[in-house]
Amino acid sequence: MTIEELQNQIIELSEKLKKSEEKLNYQEEIFDTTLKESEIRFRLTFENVGAGMALIGLEGNPTLTNEVFQEILQYSNSELTEMTFAEFTHPEDVPQELKLFQKLLDNQIPFYKMEKRFIRKEGKEIWVDQSVSVARDPDTQKPLYAIAIVKDISEKKKALQDLVKSRKNLEQFAYIASHDLQEPLRTITSFTPLLQKKLLGVNEEADQYLTFITEASLRMKELINGLLDLSRINQTQKLESTNSEEVVNSVIKDLDTIIVKTSTQIITQNLPSLFTHKTQFRQLIQNLISNGIKFSKKGTPPIISIDVIKKGKYWQFSITDNGIGIEDKFKEKIFVIFQRLHSRQEYEGTGIGLAQCKKIVEIHGGDIWVESKINEGSTFYFTIPT
Ligand code: ADP
Repeated sequence: MTIEELQNQIIELSEKLKKSEEKLNYQEEIFDTTLKESEIRFRLTFENVGAGMALIGLEGNPTLTNEVFQEILQYSNSELTEMTFAEFTHPEDVPQELKLFQKLLDNQIPFYKMEKRFIRKEGKEIWVDQSVSVARDPDTQKPLYAIAIVKDISEKKKALQDLVKSRKNLEQFAYIASHDLQEPLRTITSFTPLLQKKLLGVNEEADQYLTFITEASLRMKELINGLLDLSRINQTQKLESTNSEEVVNSVIKDLDTIIVKTSTQIITQNLPSLFTHKTQFRQLIQNLISNGIKFSKKGTPPIISIDVIKKGKYWQFSITDNGIGIEDKFKEKIFVIFQRLHSRQEYEGTGIGLAQCKKIVEIHGGDIWVESKINEGSTFYFTIPT
């Protein structure tokens, strides 16, 4: 190779080098702008997410918090970064959260969500709904930091507490009222027959009036007892393991006379064991089966089928009958105390059974509803946590 040729080659190579240097610089620039852009985007999301947000180090120490998070706790970002989560969490909520945080870091759960109490800078308790997830190194899967999203739910909690309180007051009122009403009623029911006896053969009209009074007082007694029973349904009973098949069978045994009289057929399938307030659960099953028998079509023997399926965290029971059915517009109303759709001459009753069912299901943390077709039958559904 001549010197000239060598020179040319060097020139060519140095031009290539220059070009690739330029290309590299350009790529670096693009990388920088992309990084800047994504950082801006992250900041914007972080600040405008509409909830409190904090990045948390693996020791439980916030490394970055947004304004809403600072407002919720009334600490500044720099104050918060000097603290750990446990320091501004209510002491009673710390153990549960530490367990969950550890599970999250150990990759046993993908995230956790909890309602908990924060303690504000001035010492005031505040309820929040908090979700925490974790960012991991894409290659090693090692946790890098956690992300907490927090919503202030103090007002919702307060409203709920007020509701529970007024419900308790109402229950207490219903209990006292119905309990106290029994005494004067007892006087009426014991003196009316005595008066009737005295007037026997003397005044027929008065005798008939007294019969009406006796009937009305008996009915009032029934209603008062129902109200008392309803106000007694509460969570004070312990949850116990309950074999629902056994409960259903024992209810069927108790209802034997009416079942035979009405030629009722009861079909059950796959009834599980679950945790219930047992006496009340039994009452629920009994009310629904009794209604299925009572509200049957004239001339059609009742067929009642009881099924259970698992739906997420709940057992969903269904009690289906082939009875008279319920109009759509009454589907909610029937669960309200004393609400009945028929006269007592058509179907006996007090209108307390389904109110009882609703309360029983609610204290178990479940739900109750009905689906029905007039003249074809009804299915009452209720759920109980597994
Ligand atoms: P009661 O049975 O004492 O009337 P409930 O509270 O048990 O009171 O029921 C309220 C009303 O709902 C009943 O009066 C009836 O009109 C309607 N109902 C309840 N169960 C059924 C059913 N299986 N089929 C049709 N109607 C029903």
